[in-house]
Amino acid sequence: MAPAYDDNNIFAKILRGEIPNDTVAQNDHALAFRDIRPQAPSHVLVIPKGRYVSYDDFAANASDAEIVGFTRLCAQVVAMEGIGPESGGQGFRAITNTGEHGVQEVPHFHLHILGGRLMGPMLS
Ligand code: IMP
Repeated sequence: MAPAYDDNNIFAKILRGEIPNDTVAQNDHALAFRDIRPQAPSHVLVIPKGRYVSYDDFAANASDAEIVGFTRLCAQVVAMEGIGPESGGQGFRAITNTGEHGVQEVPHFHLHILGGRLMGPMLS
């Protein structure tokens, strides 16, 4: 069963246009915007426009069109930011924090795409 979705979370408010955001790109199914507290020169959050709490909720319950739309927007962000090897960059990290042990702050699925510097060890 899908976890309950909180319509008052901050990313839901961004999607409804109630809170401003620094949009990088979007399509019918997903929105990409800059993280308000960037951890790297390039730090973009990609979120589905649908109501999904976390990665496992999205991966299990989103439609094929939503998953393709989300994934293609991630590729577009990497290319636009020039951080992927395919676009001449030096690489990037894509992570999603999930639930309590993953230390997820905002209960709307989001992928962090970080680049523009050498990343440290993955686990901390
Ligand atoms: P996580 O849920 O732990 O993966 O982190 C949530 C991320 O959302 C953090 O990196 C925050 O800096 C970011 N964040 C929170 N509010 C906003 C906002 O209004 N605009 C952009 N990023 C935000």
